[in-house]
Amino acid sequence: MLSAMILAMPTFGGIDLGGTKIQAVIADDEHNTLGSARRPTPTGGGPADVAREMEIALRDAAKAAEIEPSELAGVGVGSPGTIEHGEVTSARNLPGWEGVFPLAATLQAALGCRVAVGNDVQVATDAEFRLGAGRAYESLLGVFWGTGVGAGLILDGKSWSGLGGAGEIGHIVVEIDGARCTCGRRGCVEAYAGRGAMEIHARKLQEKGRHTDLFKLMKEHERTRLTSGIWERALDQEDKLATELIERAVGALGAGIASAMNLLDVEAVIIGGGLGVRLGHPYAKRIAKAMGPHLFADERPPHVHVAALGDLGGAIGASLLLRPVA
Ligand SMILES: [Zn+2]
Repeated sequence: MLSAMILAMPTFGGIDLGGTKIQAVIADDEHNTLGSARRPTPTGGGPADVAREMEIALRDAAKAAEIEPSELAGVGVGSPGTIEHGEVTSARNLPGWEGVFPLAATLQAALGCRVAVGNDVQVATDAEFRLGAGRAYESLLGVFWGTGVGAGLILDGKSWSGLGGAGEIGHIVVEIDGARCTCGRRGCVEAYAGRGAMEIHARKLQEKGRHTDLFKLMKEHERTRLTSGIWERALDQEDKLATELIERAVGALGAGIASAMNLLDVEAVIIGGGLGVRLGHPYAKRIAKAMGPHLFADERPPHVHVAALGDLGGAIGASLLLRPVA
């Protein structure tokens, strides 16, 4: 009887497609995680190879949850790039993804259930709004501090994506003619705070003779990139260069988020992303402090929280795509 009831409950899949990893979850109607699986994102090939890895990750998660993918009520996907009708265009950080790829249709055929695709940052923001650190608010800004810096917006209880390009907080200019950004422009928040830009900067400074243990730690931990964990270790060891670069990032985030607040005046800021979640509350506090001097309505600053759903937030958010708002 009990198992029949469990089977009758709709079960959903969620996949977070990131530049370095693919995270899949299976969740029940009450958002409990029944199974999860993670695979590295392919570094070569093209969109079809990425879709194949996503299918495997979802199948692994379903296996852990003891359910067949075809029995799922649906699978949601959070993807970088521009999303229109389940098609994904120019997804940065993914191999060979310059053109349009029908991701929803491809996965739907492979998994035998409905698939919906949304923007990765927006679905993670929705997850925090509906289930995480943003539950108490009607309007908020989710800031995801990782390889790049992205944001999702909830205004009066609804997602806001503009004409499709809203939330690019990483490309708010904090210094005219400033540091070169990975987007090709200058002085963007991401040029100072994106993990990708910070790694390039750290390497240049080391080549110029500055001492840092960042790259030594990277090798010791068998990483090919300066991951959030490597930055955290370097900070714990009081590595001078790492501390300086993180302080510079916090300053840029503070100025960028405060500028967004001066325009939007929403109730809360939720800090997520690889670095945001890893560095956690003490750094969210530092970002709030760095916002202070730039806030126009400084007598009532917004609430600043760390994303509560952590690493699984993106995949859980994706699983919400096919569910009506409660
Ligand atoms: Zn930029």
